[in-house]
Order: sequence, then structure tokens, then C-alpha cells
Amino acid sequence: MSRIFGALEAGGTKMVCAIGEETGRILEQTSLPTTVPEETIPRIIDYFRDRSIEALGIGCFGPVDVKRGSATWGTILMTPKLPWRNYRIVDALQRELKVPVGIDTDVNGSLLGEVTYGDSKGLTDVVYLTIGTGIGAGILTHGELLHGTLHSEAGHIRLQILPGDTYAGKCPYHGTCFEGLASGPAIEARWGKPAAMLADREEVWQLEAGYIAQAITTLTMILSPERFILGGGVMHQEQLFPLIREKVRENIAGYLDTPQLNDLDHYIVPASLHDDQGIMGAIRLAVEACEDP
Ligand code: ADP
Ligand code: ZN
Repeated sequence: MSRIFGALEAGGTKMVCAIGEETGRILEQTSLPTTVPEETIPRIIDYFRDRSIEALGIGCFGPVDVKRGSATWGTILMTPKLPWRNYRIVDALQRELKVPVGIDTDVNGSLLGEVTYGDSKGLTDVVYLTIGTGIGAGILTHGELLHGTLHSEAGHIRLQILPGDTYAGKCPYHGTCFEGLASGPAIEARWGKPAAMLADREEVWQLEAGYIAQAITTLTMILSPERFILGGGVMHQEQLFPLIREKVRENIAGYLDTPQLNDLDHYIVPASLHDDQGIMGAIRLAVEACEDP
């Protein structure tokens, strides 16, 4: 019989719990609302307790301490979701479930899912951008998820305001950072309608692609990855992909001549696992926790 691993996608509005096999096959999945830890964590424990999991992997909303060896490893940090601030989520689950636990950010989890089980399997240098309620970045470099002292916050890099855009920005810390300019709520605030209802407004997606392309250009210059994978609700607007590729080409301006940049259709791609990349990545985090507890 194949071994069963637990996977938790811990989000600010819901907790997706699943069990699966090392191959990434999901056997069962359920979703619970994220309320307060005293209520939500016992429900997660109840779900996993009777399912004979070997280990648990968590892709967690942030900021979260994912640095192995740190005194506060597995703790949710300065989140605006106050009941979860300084909550030791790994300790709470490990104490009851008594199995190895692995944790990384939600977006690093999605990236791990894509490079383990998706179209980007085998690549070693990849950036994953999620563009939804917020903007997050996961970075894989030399085959390892990058953490630094915390983890990437490339959703908050500064961008140049594009001509004609007078929107003041949605980020409470930085106003017009990448997230402040280009997240789903920023699109809605700028244009007065939810992003999904603006599909036929050419100017909306030209501007959005302009900002995403700036971020990709900057991250290309810094990290020189093999590929960018774009996920999250806003990227359901598939017309963005050709616009982003064209603007990245313009921004690079012929300066880089690599096989990757000469093949933008494979350099900038959508997520390939049909919104299961996060939970599949969490399965992989569980497998890794088992191998190296
Ligand atoms: P979250 O980031 O909260 O995990 P999502 O990735 O689904 O969830 O992102 C939600 C955001 O994406 C919302 O701001 C919403 O307006 C936007 N969004 C969702 N679906 C679409 C769509 N089809 N087209 C454009 N924007 C969308
Ligand atoms: Zn910001």
C-alpha cells in the first residue's frame, strides 16, 4: 500500500485539507473556513487524526517563519489577521498529530507543486507569481526554494507608474507598490468594477500587463530564471499573457539573448495544475518532511 501524506493549504479565508500520495495524486479533499485558531485548528486536527498520515505539509499565508532552525520556525508573524498573529501553527498541529511537519509560504508551495508535478517538472530556477487578492512571489533557485531571512516579498517591489495612471494604489504600506497597483482589489478600485467584469476593456489589461511586465523584467535581471509561472484569480484573464510577453520583450530591449528570452511563450506561462498546485505542493512538503524531519 502506498503511503498517505497530509496537505494543508492555509489561507486567510479558508483552509484546504487533503490527503494524497507521493505521486501528487489527491485522494480526498475538504475545505474549512478560517476563523480563529481556537476553532479552526481543532477542526484541522480532527480531519487528519484518523487518516493515518505519514507527515503533514503546510503552504501557509504569511508572513510566516519558514526558516528551519529558527526559534520561531512555523510561526505566523505580523499578519493583519490579528487572531493568527504570532500563532505557532506547526507546534499546534505537530503536538496533536505527532508526525513530521513541513511548512513554506503558500506561494512557494504552489511553485513546488508546479516543479514537482506540473509542466515545469525538473526546472531548477523558476519564479512563481500569484496575482489575486494580494501579489506573492515564490522563488526556486538552484533547485531550492529561496528564503533569505524571511521569504520573498516581491509583491511589494516599487514600480514606475505608467503614463496616464492616476490611481493612488491599494497597498496600506506602500501605496503604489506592485501589489498596490496590480492586485485584483487594485484593479477594482481603479476601474470601479471587479476585475472579472472588465474582461472586454482593452485599456485595463494593457495597464495590468504593463505592471506585471515591469516586475518580470526586474526579477529577470536579478534572478535570471528559466521561467515565470503566473497564477491567481487575475491571471484567469488569459488575454494578459501575450500582452505581458510583448511588454517584457520591449523592456528587455534586446539586452539579453538567452534561449529562454528568445522563447517567451515558454518563459512566461500559466500555472498548469488547474488550481491544485498549492495542495499538491503541500503534499510534496510533507514528503520532504518525512525524508528530512
Ligand atoms: P486569493 O488571492 O484570495 O487566494 P484569488 O487568487 O482567486 O484568491 O484572487 C482573488 C482576486 O482575483 C479578486 O480580487 C478577484 O477580483 C480576482 N479575480 C478572480 N477571478 C477573476 C477573473 N476571472 N478575472 C479577473 N480577476 C479575477
Ligand atoms: Zn506594498
